[in-house]
Amino acid sequence: MKNLLGGKGANLAEMSNLGIPVPPGFTISTEVCTYYYDNGEIYPDTLKDEVIAALAKVEETLGRTFGSIDDPLLVSVRSGARASMPGMMDTILNLGLNDLSVEGLAKRSNDPRFAYDSYRRFIQMYSNVVLGIEHHNFEEILEEAKDDKGVHLDTDLAADDWKKVIARYKDKVKEVLGHPFPQDVHEQLWGAIGAVFGSWMNQRAITYRRLHDIPGSWGTAVNVQAMVFGNMGDDCSTGVCFTRNPSTGDHEFYGEFLVNAQGEDVVAGIRTPQQITIEGKQAQNSNLPAMEECQPEVFKELNAIRHKLEAHYRDMQDMEFTVQQGRLWMLQTRTGKRTTKAALKIAVDMAREGLITRKEAIRRIDPVSLDQLLHPTLDPKAARTVLARGLPASPGAASGRVVFSAEDAENWVNVRKEKVILVRVETSPEDIGGMHVSEGILTTRGGMTSHAAVVARGMGTPCVAGAGEIRVDHAARQMKVAGQILSEGDVITLDGSTGEVFLGAVPTIQPEMTGDFATLMEWVDTIRTLKIRANAETPQDAATARKFGAEGIGLCRTEHMFFDPRRIIAMREMILAETEEGRRSALSKLLPYQRQDFIELFEIMRGLPVTIRLLDPPLHEFLPHTEAEIAEVAKEAGVDPALIRARNIALHESNPMLGHRGCRLGITYPEIYEMQARAIFEAAVHVSRETGRSVVPEVMIPLVGARKELDLLKAAIDKEAQAVFSEQNYAVKYLVGTMIELPRAALMAGEIAETAAFFSFGTNDLTQTTFGMSRDDSGPFLEVYRARGIYERDPFASLDQAGVGELIRIAAERGRVTRPGLKLGICGEHGGDPASISFCQSAGLDYVSCSPYRVPIARLAAAQAALGEGTSSGTA
Ligand code: ADP
Ligand code: MG
Ligand code: MG
Repeated sequence: MKNLLGGKGANLAEMSNLGIPVPPGFTISTEVCTYYYDNGEIYPDTLKDEVIAALAKVEETLGRTFGSIDDPLLVSVRSGARASMPGMMDTILNLGLNDLSVEGLAKRSNDPRFAYDSYRRFIQMYSNVVLGIEHHNFEEILEEAKDDKGVHLDTDLAADDWKKVIARYKDKVKEVLGHPFPQDVHEQLWGAIGAVFGSWMNQRAITYRRLHDIPGSWGTAVNVQAMVFGNMGDDCSTGVCFTRNPSTGDHEFYGEFLVNAQGEDVVAGIRTPQQITIEGKQAQNSNLPAMEECQPEVFKELNAIRHKLEAHYRDMQDMEFTVQQGRLWMLQTRTGKRTTKAALKIAVDMAREGLITRKEAIRRIDPVSLDQLLHPTLDPKAARTVLARGLPASPGAASGRVVFSAEDAENWVNVRKEKVILVRVETSPEDIGGMHVSEGILTTRGGMTSHAAVVARGMGTPCVAGAGEIRVDHAARQMKVAGQILSEGDVITLDGSTGEVFLGAVPTIQPEMTGDFATLMEWVDTIRTLKIRANAETPQDAATARKFGAEGIGLCRTEHMFFDPRRIIAMREMILAETEEGRRSALSKLLPYQRQDFIELFEIMRGLPVTIRLLDPPLHEFLPHTEAEIAEVAKEAGVDPALIRARNIALHESNPMLGHRGCRLGITYPEIYEMQARAIFEAAVHVSRETGRSVVPEVMIPLVGARKELDLLKAAIDKEAQAVFSEQNYAVKYLVGTMIELPRAALMAGEIAETAAFFSFGTNDLTQTTFGMSRDDSGPFLEVYRARGIYERDPFASLDQAGVGELIRIAAERGRVTRPGLKLGICGEHGGDPASISFCQSAGLDYVSCSPYRVPIARLAAAQAALGEGTSSGTA
């Protein structure tokens, strides 16, 4: 019932139903939140009575009364949206304390220190979260109290010390607000409930929802729950644990806890936490006792709950608990965030354990998250200077310039276009924007479950947490470490897999696809029906594509082959030539280069299909434009600079995207395509003869709008093929097809398919021409369009299924009526986007082609598309 109760509320109820100890409480549903915002921020009439009735039930269960001065019931007020949202309101603990009930609590617990500590925590939290008084006001008072007494830890303060702190806290509230801290417990309760609903629309939450595509209409629930206390002495504790290791995915119990502490103390990193297991303690080199040693009974119970919850939810759980005087209470469980590496291991392991099916394993991995594994790691051979060590909180390597605030991070990235590493003592939810733009995150305090660690893992950003040797001076924008001072802008490198921090930029190496990743990819390949090809023109790209499992090249852009310094001379000579003869002579110089390029590609692709697009961009792109360049080229080519200038003027177009390009070049200068066709066939014959492997080139003609264009060009290509085959006395099979990248081509697909053996949807241009919007110029207004909800997504990043997609459907359908076996594919940015891939599956395409590094993402997305649903529980 997550939609109604929010994730936290639903899981608390579920745990309670499973017989797991959960403090009693109730949930105000997300519907109330929706009502609240739909009706000008008022509650439904019945809410007050229902809350009072629910509270009465909790009172009855525990035999305590809310607001009682003898034996008060205290509650926590916790927000809980459907999806866990760090942008939301902070939980308020110990609500129900006031000047009178605190005395009751002190007497009943026989522990005044605990009672006053709880009260001061409550004043601090409530004042901050509900009354909006900044934290530092209270931090300063607390620091002074500790200094006065000459102690360092909160736990060193006694009951009387806390009493004084409380008095000063209350004065502070009165001073800031002009009225005293609320003593009426019902006023406190409604204040907290209102703050939860209010926080749904705060900036942090809105930003978080935008980054994670969470609709504003979902609303949040409010959980009101009886308090249990982890701060009543040394047989009390509070902690966070995972059913498996969230970093590595290893099937081991993993967690941290703090003795005599409450709530977020672990996450906030105020003291160094202890490990749950002995193994964990050894792994972390900790000298504090593990729970397994110091509280073996509680450990046993917690471990049993771990197994029970994982078996029930059939996924790795992230749990929060509190131990009150030796008694264990569960306060939360949810599907645990994990690194991609861990997600793969957990999915593969769980499928092997029989807990889930292989199909579920496939569904559980967010395709885009694989990107994390497809990025470089530190080159083990590279020289490096270690500056500091912290915890390996989120894997991957990253270099960047150090910045010391989230705001500075955003500035350096957005304005100066630099890569940054965000360095903080610890992070908090306000830092989310800055964390998002950073290449890596480094904190000097906090553990593996600190805010920085959890958020970084979710974002796939490398993170080193708790690097305690580093001293950060925020005001001076400097950090001190290993006897050095680094200032804002200095470069460091993080290795989030080892926890190391290095001076300068350390070189990295390319990733490999092995282990669980390779296993899952094997499973994926048994499910998917779409073929995956890559867009590649260099041997290096082709080799990468093959390494990642590409089943061919879907787009080889031949013009990229002409920019090489030696070739561009001949290319320019061709463009500057005034006669066909002159052009042919220049082209004959390009032929051997082009042939060699294709030989290499065919060899690397070992018989897999290779689609080669003939020259596409307008010729002026190859000419020099500045005076200096013109002079240089003129000298090289032995022509008058005036000739180049004149040619530039002649070739100038006011709208090159819609100008003299694509097959229009082939129509006007047939010799260009003839040379390219010859290079392709000579290369194909060569490789086929040498290797004995069949090579089937797919010759692709760009920017076709009419069948006639294709007819003329195909005839020329066929003629060239016949010429090469008879010269060589050796023939290969080949296909001639077209790109569909103009709306007219899509509409005329029935006719075009009479000549074309295949279609490849060039969705970059098809999007530009369908929207009548240039990709290069649309940035500024598209931003506004998206903000105003005209187009929800950038149509160049994710295929516009309604408009452009409709043209693709029409073309596919009409094409296949004419030619039933017509091979259909897509090339362009969209080929690597999971949502677009799912569309391609439904439109009946045969393959998608994407950049080499996205091939694994496309393979997984294609399998999920074949399974008919998206991810069931992602890693995001
Ligand atoms: P978040 O959504 O940030 O995790 P929670 O609502 O889970 O916030 O609260 C944070 C912490 O507060 C919990 O981990 C838990 O330790 C503590 N907490 C919440 N409710 C209670 C309670 N009823 N008794 C004791 N501790 C609580
Ligand atoms: Mg929590
Ligand atoms: Mg194009």
